[in-house]
Amino acid sequence: VNTWGVTELADAVHAVGDTEIDALVAEYLDLYDVAPELHPGSARHDSLRYGAAIELGLRGFLEAGGFSAFTTSFEDLADLKQLPGLAVQRLMADGYGFGAEGDWKTAVLVRAAAVMGAGLPGGASLMEDYTYHLEPGNELILGAHMLEVSPSLTTSTPRLEVHPLGIGGKDDPVRLVFTADAGPALVVALSDLRDRFRLVANVVENVALPVPMPKLPVGHAVWKPAPDFTTSAAAWLTAGAAHHTVMTTQVGVQVVRDFAQMAGVELLVIDESTTLEGFARDVRTNAAYYRLAQSL
Ligand code: MN
Repeated sequence: VNTWGVTELADAVHAVGDTEIDALVAEYLDLYDVAPELHPGSARHDSLRYGAAIELGLRGFLEAGGFSAFTTSFEDLADLKQLPGLAVQRLMADGYGFGAEGDWKTAVLVRAAAVMGAGLPGGASLMEDYTYHLEPGNELILGAHMLEVSPSLTTSTPRLEVHPLGIGGKDDPVRLVFTADAGPALVVALSDLRDRFRLVANVVENVALPVPMPKLPVGHAVWKPAPDFTTSAAAWLTAGAAHHTVMTTQVGVQVVRDFAQMAGVELLVIDESTTLEGFARDVRTNAAYYRLAQSL
């Protein structure tokens, strides 16, 4: 895991030429439902152009370095005028790994999931529990991030919009807004236990939005976790699972089991068969096993 000063990225972004930006803006207008205020000649078109410059600068930086995953941090943007949103979303959709706030573990995980799912319908994205729908018997999890959820999770046409973002203290960033398609999905987190890494996977079902959410201007997913909300949440906490995850709609839990086996990484699965007693027992058994196995 290497670090470059964000000033180097900012220099690359600010060196992007108008012709390249014109071409990428034309691509945005073709692919997305672009908010009228962002169209050429409209009041906020410069915000869209700046978003395009970030994408071009960032993509060039990744290609030049041969990198397949990256992180950003809203606390460290140098003279970048916007937190990268649209750019990160589109790069994830192209298979780059990404973790927010310097979270390189999730960047690795998003990249690994993108490779596992390459060529299959659906996608892989950074995800984060944002809030909970605590209707008894119909509990749901709303996942989103400040900006950075991959549009590979939807087959609908995302809206390209600009809104204020209080965090980071920069200009309003452009972003793609959509709801992830309904259907089976998996959220996977990677925790650093100091003597080893631990993967925790929860089998989930993405569902349609229960109510319209016009005041949530970011890409998002709403899901029902297996086996039920209470068991899933308690097991997740018991495992010390992370705040950021990768959501994949491309591969099921068996593929992640194979990956964990190949990588020699602990995996705890929360699925339809999970009980809290059994899960806690697995956590304890694994703690002993992985310590013993180190000397084998
Ligand atoms: Mn976060």
